[in-house]
Amino acid sequence: MRVSALTVLVLGVATMAAAQTTAHWEYRGKDGPLAWGKLAPAYKACSQGHEQSPIDIRGAHLNKALQPIEFHYRAGAVTLENNGHTVVVHVAPGSYIVANGVRYELQQFHFHHPSEETVKGKFSDMVIHLMHKSADGQLAVIAVRLNEDRGDPNATLAALWQHLPATAGATDQVTDAVNPGGLLPADRGYWNYMGSLTAPPCTEGVHWFVFEQELSISRAQLNAFAAIFKMNARPLQDTHGRRIEANE
Ligand SMILES: [Zn+2]
Repeated sequence: MRVSALTVLVLGVATMAAAQTTAHWEYRGKDGPLAWGKLAPAYKACSQGHEQSPIDIRGAHLNKALQPIEFHYRAGAVTLENNGHTVVVHVAPGSYIVANGVRYELQQFHFHHPSEETVKGKFSDMVIHLMHKSADGQLAVIAVRLNEDRGDPNATLAALWQHLPATAGATDQVTDAVNPGGLLPADRGYWNYMGSLTAPPCTEGVHWFVFEQELSISRAQLNAFAAIFKMNARPLQDTHGRRIEANE
């Protein structure tokens, strides 16, 4: 079923945003990543920031003071939206994490093909970014890398993949409850660094938590996403000497 109320809301927000300082952008061509910083004044951080994401993860320092992330995700109905850049999965309120003493509410999660972040120069086939916000406006992203292999197919991905909206602006609702916790690897060891949103406006001050363990994705699932988004990953950014830490 098409969710007309959500569509109206999304169009409303898009219209409001257009009145502010947003601009059309792409992953390729004249409105591609190298131009983002010039497309709108609000996108300046994309070209002038020194804390941009994604980055290549290497040389992490072990920091035993980093605590395991507490996940308090709950199952609920979700709506998938193709926003022209990715498929965004909108979740019901109530899911949150606690990361190093700060509570962040899960707002949405989405996918990139291939992965944006690399580990010692190696890309994964895809990545999930779970976007969270604290009460005082701090952003935290959990990144779960997906690798095509012969491992067990992920049931949560399989449920979502039946509802991937193929065209920009389209939405689809999953009425069976989906628990985003089904998208987390068994081993919760992570790398942590300070970065940014990986799409305009490239806002900085984002707490990144990249899981060390990858999840499996099947060839068929990979092909299904690639048929919609052949490439929706921002190129790697300079670390400018940023420190990367590992919690285990
Ligand atoms: Zn992302």
